[in-house]
Amino acid sequence: MKDAAPASAPETFYLKDYTPFGFEVVSVELTFRLAPNATRVISKIRFSPKPGAADPTFFLHGEELTLIRAAIDGTEVTPTLTDTGLTCDVPDTPFTWEAEVEIDPEGNTALEGLYMSNGMYCTQCEAEGFRKITYYPDRPDVMSTFKVRIEGDEKVKLSNGNPTGNGAGWAEWHDPWPKPAYLFALVAGDLVNHPDSFTTRSGKEVELNIWVRPGDEGKCAFGMEALKKSMTWDEEVYGREYDLDIFNIVAVDDFNMGAMENKGLNIFNSSCVLASPDTSTDANYERIEAIIAHEYFHNWTGNRITCRDWFQLCLKEGLTVFRDAQFTADMRSAPVKRISDVIDLRARQFPEDGGPLAHPPRPEQFQEINNFYTATVYEKGAEVIGMLKRLVGDDGYSKALDLYFDRHDGQACTIEDWLKVFEDATGRDLTQFKLWYSQAGTPRLSVEESYQDGTYTLTFEQKTAPTPGQPDKAPRVIPIAVGLLGPNGDEVLPTQVLEMTEGKQSFTFEGLAAKPVPSILREFSAPVILERETTNSERAFLLAHDTDPFNRWEAGNALAREARIAMILDGAAPDADYLDALQKMLRDDDLDPAFRALVLSPPSQSNIAQALHEHGHTPDPQQIHDAAETFAQTLAEQLADSLPRLYAATTVDGPYSPDAVSTGKRDLNARILSLLTRLDGGQQAARQYEAADNMTQQYAALSCLLKAEKGAAQSQAFYDQWKGDRLVMDKWFALQIATAAPEAAAQIAQDLTGHALFTLKNPNRFRAVMGAMAGNHAGFHHASGAGYRLLAENLIALDKLNPQTTARMCAAFQTWRRYDADRQALIREQLQRIAGTDGLSRDTTEMVTRILDA
Ligand SMILES: [Zn+2]
Repeated sequence: MKDAAPASAPETFYLKDYTPFGFEVVSVELTFRLAPNATRVISKIRFSPKPGAADPTFFLHGEELTLIRAAIDGTEVTPTLTDTGLTCDVPDTPFTWEAEVEIDPEGNTALEGLYMSNGMYCTQCEAEGFRKITYYPDRPDVMSTFKVRIEGDEKVKLSNGNPTGNGAGWAEWHDPWPKPAYLFALVAGDLVNHPDSFTTRSGKEVELNIWVRPGDEGKCAFGMEALKKSMTWDEEVYGREYDLDIFNIVAVDDFNMGAMENKGLNIFNSSCVLASPDTSTDANYERIEAIIAHEYFHNWTGNRITCRDWFQLCLKEGLTVFRDAQFTADMRSAPVKRISDVIDLRARQFPEDGGPLAHPPRPEQFQEINNFYTATVYEKGAEVIGMLKRLVGDDGYSKALDLYFDRHDGQACTIEDWLKVFEDATGRDLTQFKLWYSQAGTPRLSVEESYQDGTYTLTFEQKTAPTPGQPDKAPRVIPIAVGLLGPNGDEVLPTQVLEMTEGKQSFTFEGLAAKPVPSILREFSAPVILERETTNSERAFLLAHDTDPFNRWEAGNALAREARIAMILDGAAPDADYLDALQKMLRDDDLDPAFRALVLSPPSQSNIAQALHEHGHTPDPQQIHDAAETFAQTLAEQLADSLPRLYAATTVDGPYSPDAVSTGKRDLNARILSLLTRLDGGQQAARQYEAADNMTQQYAALSCLLKAEKGAAQSQAFYDQWKGDRLVMDKWFALQIATAAPEAAAQIAQDLTGHALFTLKNPNRFRAVMGAMAGNHAGFHHASGAGYRLLAENLIALDKLNPQTTARMCAAFQTWRRYDADRQALIREQLQRIAGTDGLSRDTTEMVTRILDA
C-alpha cells in the first residue's frame, strides 16, 4: 500500500523477471454505481487458463478496495486478500469471475484510479491506477475488450469505445478494441461539449467532442482544430486512420500529468486543452497543439500497439514524442522546433542523465513506475528514434514503421520487437545500436582535426561517465552529421552522416583547397555533449555562415555560454565580438523572428551552472545570476539607440492569431521589451500592459515590470482581473517567483503558499509555486537555504495527499552535487528530513533515496 510506512524496503521489480499472466482475459464487463464516497464497481470478467503457463497463479491486483463479494461461475468464493491484491483457487477451464467492490472517489487525493475534481468523476489509470478501481490483472500485456455501464445522476457519462445505449440515470459503452487496463477511462459530470466531426480518408464519419465545465465552451475551438489537423497528418504521414465512431476529449482541473491517451476518451489537464487569446499565451497555444497531437497519435503508437511491461514505456512514449515533434515541425518551423527541443533536452534530460537519477531509456528495475515518466524515457527515447531514422534513412524508416503496424497491431511489444522490424525492413544489424536503450549517461564526444595537402581528418572519441549501477560503458553507434565550410563562408561539403561505431574513429575528406571550418552535429544528430577546442572567432564565423540553422544557433549559444563563463571565472567584461554578432542578428530582418528570438535568449542559469560543473568548477548561483544581469544590461545599453525602433518593428498589431509567424514575432518583441525595460524604467512595458488585448502581451509586460520591481500595481490589477480563472492564476503565482531577485524569491514563494488561492490539492497550482521556486536558480540556491527548506516542507505536506506529484518534484534536488559544500550540507539536511518523514510514500522514498545515495 502506498501509505504504509516504508520501514521495510519497498519491493523492487526487475525486467529480467518478466513472466506472462497465466490466463487470457476474454472479456470484461464493468458496472459503476456512482456515489462520491461509496461508488460500487461490479466486474464480470471471463478468464481462460493458458495451457502450460509458466506461472499458473490466479493473482489480481487491487489496492484500497473494499471487497463486498466475489463469485466464480455464480458461486460465492472467499479469496485471500493482501495489501496489493488477491489470490483465489480457480477452475482449470474457462470461468467467469465476478466481484463487487466499494471505493471512495472523493477521498482520493492521489488522483490515481477513480477520483473527483470539482464535482466531476474522472479516472487516471496509467500506469497502475486501475487496481484502485477493481481487482484485475493490471499489467499492460493483458488486453481485452470492455463493456461499461455507468449509473448516476450526472448529465454526461462517458467511457471508452462507442456508446451503445443510455436512459434515465444510465449509459453504456463498448470498446471493441482489446486494450490493457491502463487505457480504461470513465468521466461523469455536468459537462458541456464543443462538438465537431471528421471524415477519415476511407470515408468513416467520426463524431468529435471536447467536454468542459460550463463556462469554458469558448476555449475549445483551437484544441478542436489541432485534433483535426492531427487526424489528417497521421493519415498522410503514417497512413494511420482513426478506428472508432467517436473521439472524446475531457478537460479536468485536477490532474497529475499533462494528458492521457485513454482509448477514444482522452483526459486532459485543462491547462493543456483550454485556449483563448485573453487567457492563454503563445507558448500555451503551441503546447496545446503538441499535446493534443501527442495523445491522438498514441491511438496507434501506444493503444493499438502497446507495451509488454512498464520497462518498455519508451516504446510508446519515445515514438509518440518523436511523432509529435515531426507534426509540430510540419505545422510550424522545423529549425525552431529542433532548437527548442534541444534547449529542453539539455535543461531536463542532460542533468538527469549526469546525476543520481540517471537511467537508460529502458530501465531494468524500479520500485515505483510513476517515477520513470522521465525526460530520459520521453525525450531521450525520441532522440534515439531520431538517430535510428538518420541511420536507416527516410525510406528505411517508412518501411520499418509500416512493418511495425502490420506485424504488431493488437499486441503488447518490447524494444526487441521494435528493433527487429528495422532489421527486417532494412537488413541492418542493430545489435550495437541497442546500447542506446540499455546504457544510461550522455556520451561526451571529443573531436580533433588535422589538415594536410588537401586532406582533412576529423578524429572523434566517445566516452560516457559511470552512472548508478553502470560503471563501464561500451562504445555506441553515433550518427554525426557534418558539413564543411570554406574560408569565405561557402559550403564546400554539404551535410553527410558519419557513422561512428568505435571508441575512437577518424574520418577523412579529400580534395579540399584550404583548411575548412567544420560544422559538426548538424540538426543535433545525436544526444551527446560535443567537446571541441575552438575559438570565439570561429564560433562567430559559424553564427554568420553556417547553412544548418541548428548549428548556426548552436554557435551563438556557445558564444553566449563562453562569454558568461569568462565573466564569472576571470571577471571579464561581456565579450565585445559576441555583443556585436548579437546586434547584427537582431537587426537582420531577413532572419525568421522566431530564430532571432532564440539566438537572443541566453543560456539558462542552470545551464551555465552545469557547464561550469562539467569544466571542473563549483558554480556559484549568485555569481551566475549577476553575470546574466550585467550581460543583459550591457547589451541593452549598446542597443539603446535602436531598441525603440526594433520594438515598434516587431510589435504585432491587429486581432490576435496564434500562428507561427505572429508567435515568433511576439517572442522577439518580448525579448526586446525586456531589454528596453532596463533603460526606460518600465515605461514602455506599462504602456503595453495597459494596451494589451491578449494574454501573451499582457503577460510579457507584467513579467518585465515585475523583474524591474515596478509591477506592484499591475500585479494587483492582474489579480483582480483574473482571480476567477484558475489557469491564469497559475501564471500569476508562478510569475512573481520566477521574476523575484535571488534574496527575495523564497519569501515571496512562502507568502504565496499562505494565499487563499493556494492549495495542495491542485497539482497545477502546486507546480506553479514550487516549480517556479525550483526554477529560479539563484533564488532556490540562495546561500540562506530558505528555498531548500520551503520546497522540502511543501513536499512533505503534499506527499500525504499526492505521492506521484511529490516524487516528481523531488527531482529539483537532483543536481545537488554540483554545488559547494555548504549548499550540499543544506540540501542533504532537507533530503534527510523528507526521507525521515513518518509514513512517506513509496514514490517519494524511492526518489529521495536515489538522490541521496549517489
Ligand atoms: Zn505519451
